[in-house]
Amino acid sequence: MSTVTLSNIAKAYPNGYQAVHKLNLDIQDGEMVVLVGPSGCGKSTLLRMIAGLEEITSGELTIDGSIVNHLEPGERDIAMVFQNYALYPHMTIYNNMAYGLRNRKTPKAEIHRLVTEAAEMLELSELLERKPKELSGGQKQRVAMGRAIVREPKVFLFDEPLSNLDAKLRVQMRLQIKKLQRRLGTTSIYVTHDQVEAMTLADKLVVLNKGNVEQVGRPIEIYDRP
Ligand code: ADP
Ligand code: ADP
Repeated sequence: MSTVTLSNIAKAYPNGYQAVHKLNLDIQDGEMVVLVGPSGCGKSTLLRMIAGLEEITSGELTIDGSIVNHLEPGERDIAMVFQNYALYPHMTIYNNMAYGLRNRKTPKAEIHRLVTEAAEMLELSELLERKPKELSGGQKQRVAMGRAIVREPKVFLFDEPLSNLDAKLRVQMRLQIKKLQRRLGTTSIYVTHDQVEAMTLADKLVVLNKGNVEQVGRPIEIYDRP
């Protein structure tokens, strides 16, 4: 069970700019919420506050009923998948996926099980000894997802994970992400500016505008059908 609740969450940057206004949002267990909205509307600020990468100015962020505002990113049981993959170039794919688990002193055999399982799910088993520079963009993105999956987090955060891929790969990866999220049942928050991606992935769509929630609903309630 992992529910995420945002109660009156706000962000004012040190220069005084109010990027997110008192924002309320309930995310159910296993739900995939997609945040959309024009550039500058506060999507990544919100995601980074949830991840713990940006301080929450006011309001409460709770995961499974516990306030996590003051927890460090590593203590929040959240894994984030970035647009630029953020892989370690000098490490093999295996070690890229194992890195976070080693830091948490996970036993070796358990790391091995988690990494091999994730690699299988993501069709990376043949690539584990390679370095990131020997992989295609789509493969690197799958490694970035693998690294999130092995941590078995309560929540996945996706920050425009597909925007560096070409159109064809984006479609493939979109379907793969959807399948994985269903299979793992992990509560997920996904930021994109791609309307098709949002339509396909979202259980619940949240449209942001100037730091406020403009609309919340199922995709068909928000976008007109053709
Ligand atoms: P989005 O992800 O929707 O494009 P952001 O969350 O990146 O939007 O930014 C929201 C607003 O906050 C923008 O107007 C942006 O210029 C502003 N902003 C982002 N980071 C900072 C910062 N460190 N200091 C001041 N303003 C910022
Ligand atoms: P260490 O130097 O601490 O042993 P390694 O990176 O060599 O760290 O590997 C850690 C463990 O993961 C070892 O047990 C190793 O056999 C295993 N391992 C590394 N790469 C792979 C791989 N591609 N497939 C399966 N197991 C691997």
